[in-house]
Amino acid sequence: MLCEMCGAESALLTSRKISGSVLQVCSACSDSGSEPTHRESVGHRVYVAQTLQKRNMKTRYREIETDESVLVSDYGVVVRLAREKSGLDHATLASNISEKKSIVASVESSNMRPNEKLIKKLENFLKIKLTENVESNPELNSKKSSKGLTMGDLLKQAMKEN
Ligand SMILES: [Zn+2]
Repeated sequence: MLCEMCGAESALLTSRKISGSVLQVCSACSDSGSEPTHRESVGHRVYVAQTLQKRNMKTRYREIETDESVLVSDYGVVVRLAREKSGLDHATLASNISEKKSIVASVESSNMRPNEKLIKKLENFLKIKLTENVESNPELNSKKSSKGLTMGDLLKQAMKEN
């Protein structure tokens, strides 16, 4: 690579802001000019693209959060009743959803929270619903918002960092 300042061949070039433009310069020239900001070093177009991407990710995250469904608190009972209604024992249910018998038993006694995959398998096989939407549960919503940071908290945090 060539230094955009002096034209010398250099393996390692650094970005420097020199008289208003960002140049890729060699180590000898890196003393001149100033450290470019992130925006200046990546270029305006890339910066805008990155910012838009970040914003998209944030929005997507928020959507996922509001659509979030949670495991019902009595999931063990729901699974057990559905299994008994179908006339299955632990072993039969377990083999039908390719899980261990002990896993099914633990879930039914509410000793183990099933993961998303297991929830889906149980729901599909037993024709039950093990999750509920967060929004349909006002108690959970209020708990959630009280955990969130207020503007004051954020300001306090920012002060500490400085
Ligand atoms: Zn140079």
